[in-house]
Amino acid sequence: MEQNRGIIFNIQHFSIHDGPGIRTTVFLKGCPLRCPWCSNPESQRANPEKMLDAVTKKETITGEEKTVTEIIDDVLKDVDFYEESGGGLTLSGGEIFAQFEFAKAILKAAKEVGLHTAIETTAFVEHEKFVDLIQYVDFIYTDLKHYNTLKHKKVVGVNNHLIIKNIHYAFAQNKTIVLRIPVIPNFNDSLNDAEEFASLFNSLDIDEVQLLPFHQFGENKYKLLGRRYEMEGIKALHPEDLYDYQQVFLDHDIHCYF
Ligand code: SF4
Repeated sequence: MEQNRGIIFNIQHFSIHDGPGIRTTVFLKGCPLRCPWCSNPESQRANPEKMLDAVTKKETITGEEKTVTEIIDDVLKDVDFYEESGGGLTLSGGEIFAQFEFAKAILKAAKEVGLHTAIETTAFVEHEKFVDLIQYVDFIYTDLKHYNTLKHKKVVGVNNHLIIKNIHYAFAQNKTIVLRIPVIPNFNDSLNDAEEFASLFNSLDIDEVQLLPFHQFGENKYKLLGRRYEMEGIKALHPEDLYDYQQVFLDHDIHCYF
């Protein structure tokens, strides 16, 4: 059953890093994972919640209910820019599959009005739902946080079986995909980790990956939400710290870039 309303926590106009061209990015609230490095902690809980304003430090509420029509009307305000730049709508989160019916209804409505659609997803969802939703998607950003399911579950709270299955499926469909690895200190940043990732990708016929070096961009938001930031004091990584790591993928004939 399609769901006509859901909870979002932001709509960002004129995004230029969330897919081709100029885009409007809609951020859905709720995520079943709990990555300690999450830079959008306000995205994790499903419902609206209290958060201090970053400037005034006054209490606000992050998250609000919107209908599919309200979202599409808002996105269409910039249609001229999409046409000129090859842009469109990007659906992000949180995890968009946490509001599966709502996300699907937005994407379907976007296609009905001729918009290019992109999603950012963990791909952590039942395979049937993944297949169902991506029929309305032109461009996919996804990531794999760890090749080992036990380590994946221990740190982010869920295993990686569905994620790998869905990513493999998406590549086999010849969808436009950007697959990423968030490279996190003491979690997946050793050269052995790179070897294991690369071997897995070879076995899945995945020949391209983007590395996202760990950063602490979200730290202040944890304070504004009154939560503890588990990555406090851990140094950010930079591309120059990961050239050997990158080389491992290149040696496996995987195009690897930052
Ligand atoms: S999957 Fe993304 S939104 Fe969810 S907790 Fe991890 S980083 Fe945050």
